[in-house]
Amino acid sequence: MSIKIQPEAIASLRGFEMPERLGFGTVMAPVMFRARFQDGRWSDGELLPYGPLALDPAAKVLHYAQSCFEGLKAYRYGDEGIGLFRPERNAARMAHSAQRLCMPPVPESLFMDAVNVVVAHCAGLVPGNSGESLYVRPFLMGTQPDLSVTASRAYEFYVIASPSEAYHPGNMRLWVEREDSRAAVGGTGDAKVGGNYAASLQSISRLKARGYDQSLWLNPGNRHTVDELSGMNFFAVMDGALHTPALNGSILEGVTRESLLTLARDAGLEVHERAIDIDDLLQLVASGTCTEAFACGTAAIVSPISELGDGEQRYRLAQAPGPVAMQLRTALLDIQEGRAEDRFGWMHLV
Ligand code: PMP
Repeated sequence: MSIKIQPEAIASLRGFEMPERLGFGTVMAPVMFRARFQDGRWSDGELLPYGPLALDPAAKVLHYAQSCFEGLKAYRYGDEGIGLFRPERNAARMAHSAQRLCMPPVPESLFMDAVNVVVAHCAGLVPGNSGESLYVRPFLMGTQPDLSVTASRAYEFYVIASPSEAYHPGNMRLWVEREDSRAAVGGTGDAKVGGNYAASLQSISRLKARGYDQSLWLNPGNRHTVDELSGMNFFAVMDGALHTPALNGSILEGVTRESLLTLARDAGLEVHERAIDIDDLLQLVASGTCTEAFACGTAAIVSPISELGDGEQRYRLAQAPGPVAMQLRTALLDIQEGRAEDRFGWMHLV
């Protein structure tokens, strides 16, 4: 596929001044990628100046949420330039999400070309301190103006990027969510679609009022096994072994989750992917058998959990951060930032 680089995009890059404080996902790079899907085929891509989109008010995405997205990071990679972490996993997950919502999957080559062109042009915007990165956000949406509840025939695929500080949620306190669900049985839990996040907002606003940071979602089918957080996967350490919920159709398969499982097995840790009963977990925390718990994701990397709240009860983890979380966090960041050998072939240099 050929990509047209608009001269205005180059001009907006020249004129861009990096703010002193970046935050996470709040400063936007001054360029974006776009490709259109119409009449069964993808257009060539374009690199454009970042700016508002023109959407018909009847566009399907605005009414029926026909959209999906991805999140990945570009890092300063040793002296060699810029590295992307396992971008082909994000391409595959986005294709899965698109198919779930009857959208045309973005071909892997288009996804990779689009991410590459944005990151290559924004190379000067990739911050250099450990944990900092250029956060890359590809997204796809149905744009056909038509209020019937049918799949759109027209789509737009964009990639935007945000130079970001390390996102440190600190020690997190999780609220066991026993009322709402973020996903449904047979629903879209294992797809990265906006509706899942919209469905999680009510719980988040309730738990903030109670002084908690994140919801711990239970499986929507049985309501008693742990699924994940709103934007991170869940791990617990019990008797020195690592446990994480097995994929079950309502959990999003995290790239970080899968990478940590590989690193943990490689380090000789005992690893279990299984259904984790919430009441068993709380008892194991109370008895001290479960010593640490943490969440992981592209944005938060590995973030320790200090407390689980369930109704009036509070269950404190003995170690936050615990040694397993710290070991895995260091092992992952060392590969992502080029301090350790890329033994698993995860890094993709731009
Ligand atoms: N679960 C959910 C619901 C998420 O939104 C994310 C973030 N993409 C994750 C888990 C972690 O996935 P990843 O490690 O690929 O960022």
